[in-house]
Amino acid sequence: MENTRVEDLRNILKEKGIQPSYHRLKILKYLMENKVHPTVDMIYRGLSAEIPTLSKTTIYNTLNLFAEKGLVAVLTIGERETRYDINVQPHAHFKCESCGRVYDLWDVKLDVSGAVPEGFEISRVELYIKGICANCRKGS
Ligand SMILES: [Zn+2]
Ligand SMILES: [Zn+2]
Repeated sequence: MENTRVEDLRNILKEKGIQPSYHRLKILKYLMENKVHPTVDMIYRGLSAEIPTLSKTTIYNTLNLFAEKGLVAVLTIGERETRYDINVQPHAHFKCESCGRVYDLWDVKLDVSGAVPEGFEISRVELYIKGICANCRKGS
């Protein structure tokens, strides 16, 4: 696990115009050290022992703020779950239907500008692929 310095975290938030509160710094740190596209529940489980005052609502609101400011991407790859990605560079995702893990795919061309009619403007491209990952296939 990489060691993220508080000062760096503080600067990342400030650059995005976000007031660096204690909870926000902790949530950002978690996202940077756990690049697994966590859900609110996963972050809550990961931090609640260390920060008993942290509620799921706070996590949810913080992530919404981060998304608004372009600090995280919101993934709606699962039907009932929202996941958050600290990496906002365009990339595709593969969700394993067996272990639930969400993998990053970088070698997928997401340039679809030629596919929309003239005069249209694309604001966001998302590609979600579902299947079974190599680890799970080996284990079955
Ligand atoms: Zn799997
Ligand atoms: Zn990702």
